[in-house]
Amino acid sequence: MNAKPKLSGIDPKVDFNGPYRMLIAGKLVDSNERFEVYNPATGDVVAMAPSGSREQMEQAIAAAKEAQPKWAALSWEERSAYITAFADALEANKEDLITLLTTEQGKPRHSMASFEVNYGLDWLREIATRRLTDEIIEDTDQHLVKVAHTPLGVVGAITPWNFPNLLSVWKIAACLLTGNTMVMKPSPYTPLGALRIGEIAVTVFPAGVLNIISGGNEQGAWMTEHKDIDKISFTGSTATGKKVMASSSSNLKRITLELGGNDPAIVLPGTDYKQIIPDLFNAAFGNSGQWCIAVKRLYVHSSQHADFVRDFVDHCKTKKVGDGMDADTDLGPIQNRMQFGKLQSLFADVKDKGYKVEMGGTIDENQKSNFVPITIVNNPPDDSRIVREEPFGPILPILSYDDVDEVVERANDTDFGLGAYVMGPDVGAADKVAERIEAGTVWVNQFQSHGVDIPFGGHKQSGMGVENGRAGLEAFCNSKTYITRKK
Ligand code: NAD
Repeated sequence: MNAKPKLSGIDPKVDFNGPYRMLIAGKLVDSNERFEVYNPATGDVVAMAPSGSREQMEQAIAAAKEAQPKWAALSWEERSAYITAFADALEANKEDLITLLTTEQGKPRHSMASFEVNYGLDWLREIATRRLTDEIIEDTDQHLVKVAHTPLGVVGAITPWNFPNLLSVWKIAACLLTGNTMVMKPSPYTPLGALRIGEIAVTVFPAGVLNIISGGNEQGAWMTEHKDIDKISFTGSTATGKKVMASSSSNLKRITLELGGNDPAIVLPGTDYKQIIPDLFNAAFGNSGQWCIAVKRLYVHSSQHADFVRDFVDHCKTKKVGDGMDADTDLGPIQNRMQFGKLQSLFADVKDKGYKVEMGGTIDENQKSNFVPITIVNNPPDDSRIVREEPFGPILPILSYDDVDEVVERANDTDFGLGAYVMGPDVGAADKVAERIEAGTVWVNQFQSHGVDIPFGGHKQSGMGVENGRAGLEAFCNSKTYITRKK
């Protein structure tokens, strides 16, 4: 069947100068209360965002519940056509979405912000071609045993502030494609992009299929405890993930938790490290280190450690921290004051303990903005805060090791297990090391690639379940088994 997108006929082009409104039950609505949203590069208020009330949350959940059976009754082809139409509608507003992302999040417009929005568009169009086909377990003269996948119902999506556009798109795409409806709550630090996505989505989806409501952290708790939400798709910190898990038990909600990490990267002996320094820089400092899978501990063999540190620092010195709207900015500011404060505390600890700092190390305390310098800490102890904690900023410890067994043990000595990196001249040997690393994804001689068909999730306290890939689609579904006697 060649399904046609059911567009509402409203022009998808949004007035980016207009007020920000929430999407509830197919209508764009304001709220009695509003809160300030800041530009982290200037410290100025960008806009006021509506703070949805509990009553509005109830309306959004009720609308999602009402819309779900009809949405699920559509064919995959029809839902897929809506997802493609959504990509087209977002594309019509692409440049404004990119500018807004830089303005509220801080990431450079010409690189990270453009990448994030464009990648999201590609993602929507690609995932729209995927299907969860039934699995035939047995098909004999006597029996047919098959496993099908039915939607869970209403999904609550809770997102963080580091990749607010892409992580919203990931959740919306997989959730709606599989026949669920959604209530989404963006981070209070970056609500604007999600609200504009809602203003665009209203021109595409039937009322109630996608609802977007902004406000404070309490809204997340309203969702996790609500009896009419069947699943929570959460991306955020491990601390909040634990609260989500506890609260979701009230009605045994399904949960997918994409949480924090403290990702190790191991440069094996004999690596021609000079050629990977630019990639390693991006993997550690891209998005100013505010990346769940950022390289956060870099282990280099003692035979190369000193040379590596020298060359890596030289490379870092060519990079500029600045306003993301400037074309020559490589790294933007830290997105919010809370995270900025955490980094101030980590920087103070590095200074107090007297660890060797090769570059950076001092945050300007007299700024309205949130700029943090690129900072390299040379071989701090394994029990230092900068090695044990997830810094989520542009600071990296480069650690020396003597043998592979030792470095594997040190890399795994953490409660986190999100991503990891192994680089080496012999791919087979690097793969063997990767097999021993406790992490949801290990990139071998490669960095931070994702894909619609590639499952992504954390081990240990970095998460539960996966997003993306077939398993990511299945995570939005019940497994339903049919056992039929044919005669
Ligand atoms: P956070 O946990 O503070 O907030 C995430 C979201 O949870 C926000 O929308 C927030 O409003 C909401 N929230 C807060 N309290 C809640 C509660 N009690 N119940 C329900 N929701 C609640 O995280 P953050 O600071 O926004 O994001 C940074 C963290 O996210 C880092 O640890 C990072 O590693 C992690 N992260 C993980 C991934 C991944 O895919 N594994 C991706 C991006 C970010």
